Amino acid sequence: MKQVKHWIDNAAVSGAGTRRLPVWDPATGTQQAEVLAATPAEVRAAVESALAAQPGWRAASLSRRAEVMFRFRELVDAQRKEIASLLSAEHGKTVADALGEVARGLENIEFATGAPHLLKGGFSEQAATGVDVYSIRQPLGVVAGVTPFNFPAMVPMWMFCNALVCGNTFVLKPSEKDPSVSLLLADLLMQAGLPPGAFNVVQGDREAVDALIADPDIAALSFVGSTPVARHVYEAGTRAGKRVQALGGAKNHMVVLPDADVPAAADAAVSAGFGSAGERCMAVSVVVAVGSVGDTLVDAIAERIRQIRVGPASDPDAEMGPLISREHRDRVAGYLDAAGGQVVIDGRDAHDGPGFFLGPCLVDHVGTDSVFYTDEIFGPVLSVVRVDTYEEALALVNANPYGNGTALFTRDGGAARQFQYDAVCGMVGINVPIPVPVAYYSFGGWKSSLFGDLHMYGPEGIAFYTRAKVVTSRWPDPATSAVDLGFPKVR
Ligand code: NAD
Repeated sequence: MKQVKHWIDNAAVSGAGTRRLPVWDPATGTQQAEVLAATPAEVRAAVESALAAQPGWRAASLSRRAEVMFRFRELVDAQRKEIASLLSAEHGKTVADALGEVARGLENIEFATGAPHLLKGGFSEQAATGVDVYSIRQPLGVVAGVTPFNFPAMVPMWMFCNALVCGNTFVLKPSEKDPSVSLLLADLLMQAGLPPGAFNVVQGDREAVDALIADPDIAALSFVGSTPVARHVYEAGTRAGKRVQALGGAKNHMVVLPDADVPAAADAAVSAGFGSAGERCMAVSVVVAVGSVGDTLVDAIAERIRQIRVGPASDPDAEMGPLISREHRDRVAGYLDAAGGQVVIDGRDAHDGPGFFLGPCLVDHVGTDSVFYTDEIFGPVLSVVRVDTYEEALALVNANPYGNGTALFTRDGGAARQFQYDAVCGMVGINVPIPVPVAYYSFGGWKSSLFGDLHMYGPEGIAFYTRAKVVTSRWPDPATSAVDLGFPKVR
């Protein structure tokens, strides 16, 4: 059976740990590989390798660091298909969806090639007589990233591209559910010229994450995953003195006003609700239908759902693949027996045969105290909540404990502007259902969708992976030197 190893010092290594975790093929329901589970000793080996590499990598010029990212960009671009097919094989998403993931990852590499510009400091000449003041940004040292199963290529690229180009070295702990692509990316980084130790991968689960949190030589941790684990990583990491950004789960509301274009809104709700089988942190999971739009909108959504083709990634016509695991599929399917909503479409019979499939499901008249509304289901279950007014819709968005993304569908520019002003949420779409920012902005939710101060990637990513230093300097004529016990002042 294929074995997925760690990556330390630019080589795949097995380490001494004996624990193994299964990697399933979600399309067939069979085990396709086993992944090593790192022990604290293997985590320490990766950290020591990253520690040893950091001074040399930090000393590499900005152009040299950017050059590695340029080469990495070319290699990823040339291997889009190979990366996408590996993503599909372990995650189950369609090849078209996987290619989209690679494309959004590429954006982050491209942003990182421009980091030398973003790392420029400020300079104030003559802040006092003969005194100049300037700021510089320096890397943190060794930083780590812990990533979820749903974007095994893109989310690591959100982190390590900026971390590396800022002069840090990086230890990645990918999801144990689809770990192989981490090694492909590590190999491409090596081919791009990244020195040994600058990028290491430790495979595994909680044991590896806890070892990363406890390691005193890791300066910062980036985490993306579910809210309970994000909260744990944030609390334990900050207690251990680390800088932490921990992105959590979501319940993204798409508000549809009565004046919206209903076919366009239905297209958007179905695309954003069922793409990647609903396993996206920016998936639309709740449609909030305002006033008279409810019945026509639900009919239009149902009509589109009935045409979705569910199947494995090997079927070129499949639009929606399986869920990540048997347990997760069964948990999501279990919601269809819950109280608190009217099931319009039950996807449990949508696909015959093996694999962790569940077809798209639609639940109307969902009550806000039902599990359809309160839980992050993270699967192909779209809930519709009906309200009478814009104010009620906004109150729902703002009262929700999550604040990742939200969207408004309308033809009224004034309502749209008011919504972007009022929404208590980190990312807002206006007639855009999945408003994932481009790589030169930053990604992050509010409330229980993000613990920490700085969002992921973009300018805030550069800020997260560096610390600021301000230098005050003068080159006086020694002949003018004198003792002065007064507090220095500029005027
Ligand atoms: P998860 O929280 O189960 O796992 C995420 C990572 O944490 C994995 O690497 C896993 O091995 C590790 N982990 C799991 N349990 C742990 C524990 N108790 N202690 C320490 N580490 C632990 O998440 P998942 O199921 O892989 O991914 C789905 C979740 O991620 C959803 O909630 C989704 O909304 C969220 N997500 C959020 C974003 C975002 O940007 N906000 C993006 C993608 C996914």
